[in-house]
Amino acid sequence: MAQENVNVVVRIRPSSNETNDETCIQTDPISSTITLTTNEKQFHMDKVFEQNAPQEEIFEYVQPIIAAVKNGIHGTIFAYGQTGSGKTHTMIGNDKNLGIIPRAIEIIFTDLNEESKKRNDNFKFKISCTALQIYCEKTYDLLNGNEKIEIPLRDIFKNAKEIEVKSSNECMEIIKRGLKQRKVAGTSMNETSSRSHAILTLTLKTEYFKENKKHERISRLNMVDLAGSEKHTDNNKTQNREAANINKSLSTLGQVIRAIINPTPKQVIPYRDSKLTTILRDSLGGNSKTTVIVNIHSNSKYAAETSSTLDFAANVK
Ligand code: ADP
Ligand code: MG
Repeated sequence: MAQENVNVVVRIRPSSNETNDETCIQTDPISSTITLTTNEKQFHMDKVFEQNAPQEEIFEYVQPIIAAVKNGIHGTIFAYGQTGSGKTHTMIGNDKNLGIIPRAIEIIFTDLNEESKKRNDNFKFKISCTALQIYCEKTYDLLNGNEKIEIPLRDIFKNAKEIEVKSSNECMEIIKRGLKQRKVAGTSMNETSSRSHAILTLTLKTEYFKENKKHERISRLNMVDLAGSEKHTDNNKTQNREAANINKSLSTLGQVIRAIINPTPKQVIPYRDSKLTTILRDSLGGNSKTTVIVNIHSNSKYAAETSSTLDFAANVK
């Protein structure tokens, strides 16, 4: 059933050192419920990760997605939340606290190398990666060295620069290089990374023989660091356009996931309403696996944004 293939979880970031660290949420880990104390609204999630939840714990939760990708099924992990809520920390992390992406890459290489060894020449695999950025509903390639050129959406994974990688280190190097580009791509805005989506995709091709027949499988693991979900109130044209595009694409993502979780007869899933969902179309729905990690602040200073972030999560479910 589709429902089991899509999960929406919340991660609460540790309080940053602010003068007022009054909290605006209460959690019940057993029922995975969050209560917003400012308005007593309750939100039920698939899982709630508390402030002190280590990176390992988050990775453990998404392991079934990684396992599925190794078995030829597409998987997608999204980090959603306002700027500063911990999206990049969750996806990339740092050298001491590795996030999902480096852990996923490491385990995929280790496991597939092992399997390849075990099965001799009967099992081969190739891994390649692409890195895309969507800014103001335009798609840019973070790996082609000419990041200002918009790339056409049709057959995006054929048009994007795909780099074959032989080791997890090589793969991480390329991803980091791509993410550095993200800061400058497409615009002169200095805060682009919080106003664009980054889509990092590993494509896994496996080949094996069974009863003398060759079988080939292709699966993708998409890891998406979404644009900041905060309401941009700036009174400037560029920023208004950015905000409108971000809102539209995040709300389309919500509608698509909601439609996948709550299937109805004859429904049309609005993949084509945004670039993000158009690109990820083949990886969302069907038997592919998706987890949305919703990142929030617990500090009462951010109560309004936290409330709207939790509304997003609740609407999706
Ligand atoms: P975002 O990508 O959503 O804008 P970041 O991941 O960059 O937010 O987080 C902002 C800052 O807070 C970073 O310095 C990051 O290291 C830190 N941070 C976020 N979440 C955590 C966490 N769970 N544990 C420790 N530090 C965190
Ligand atoms: Mg970030």
